[in-house]
Amino acid sequence: MEFKQKHLLGIEPLSPSEITCILDLADKYVQLNRQANKHSNRLVSLTQINMFFENSTRTQASFEIAGKRLGADVMNMAMQASSIKKGETLIDTALTLNAMHPDLLVVRHPHSGAVDLLAQKVNCAVLNAGDGKHEHPTQALLDALTIRRSKGHIKGLNIAICGDIAHSRVARSNILLLRKMGNNIRLIGPPTLVPQGFSQYGCEIYDDMRAGLKDVDVVMMLRLQRERMDGGFIPSEREYYHRYGLNTEKLAYAKEDAIVMHPGPMNRGVEIDGTIADDINRSVIQEQVEMGVAVRMAAMDLLAQNLQKSRLQNPDSTNKKGVLV
Ligand code: ASP
Repeated sequence: MEFKQKHLLGIEPLSPSEITCILDLADKYVQLNRQANKHSNRLVSLTQINMFFENSTRTQASFEIAGKRLGADVMNMAMQASSIKKGETLIDTALTLNAMHPDLLVVRHPHSGAVDLLAQKVNCAVLNAGDGKHEHPTQALLDALTIRRSKGHIKGLNIAICGDIAHSRVARSNILLLRKMGNNIRLIGPPTLVPQGFSQYGCEIYDDMRAGLKDVDVVMMLRLQRERMDGGFIPSEREYYHRYGLNTEKLAYAKEDAIVMHPGPMNRGVEIDGTIADDINRSVIQEQVEMGVAVRMAAMDLLAQNLQKSRLQNPDSTNKKGVLV
């Protein structure tokens, strides 16, 4: 087996063969998920806890379904009602949960690096479901699976990522993954939202959307991440849509068979025209959601295998009180 990771905290530590390993297994789970009986017993007797300190629709539902289809005992912590609201620190919450012997911890947090920190305090596998504007690894993996299934490969493609790159963890994880796999990335948006510093990742930067979209294979649209903005980054939504909103006229600059992606939630009439989002010949937005469940099943399956292996090799890694030794 190629996959060596203990946690899935980001795309950064993954090798191209580890990425391929997740995508290959996810392809198998796509088949399973399309059958009437969608159950497997890969995670039977394991406990999965989902902790979302930030709002989520797709990611949380998808992790929950993924765990249940694999037979895990899945628990969703209601973070709005948790002791974090009473002043408990993230680390104390983590240690409390750790004492309940979870095997998989899925965490979303508004601060970059928080999931990493938590992973150092617990002795189970931790999956980053999005930390601030840092990384969202399962989103990039599901995007990669969607592209690979639609284009037949994921190498040497011209991929445009458009919109609010500066505040987007989806953009960061996608840039890392798609560059590792040998693709050309163009970042398109106003200079306030696409800092020049991103060229260090080997990306081309465009503020003219028509020039940036010319002959691309994939167009990935991103939402304005208002919750992470501390000032005015665009003159108005109307002006933004005029210059950077994806419509039929702008999409015509991309290749004829270019696909349109969006991680959701989508703001129709701001970054994307509703007719394009709904055009089943161009938009793969619903496929992205489908691939999300399969990718999360694959990631949890592989991490659980590594966890069980390391527990066999080192049975004392968790003492009876569930605290780190
Ligand atoms: N759902 C994605 C995320 O959590 C994208 C977004 O919110 O715009 O980062």
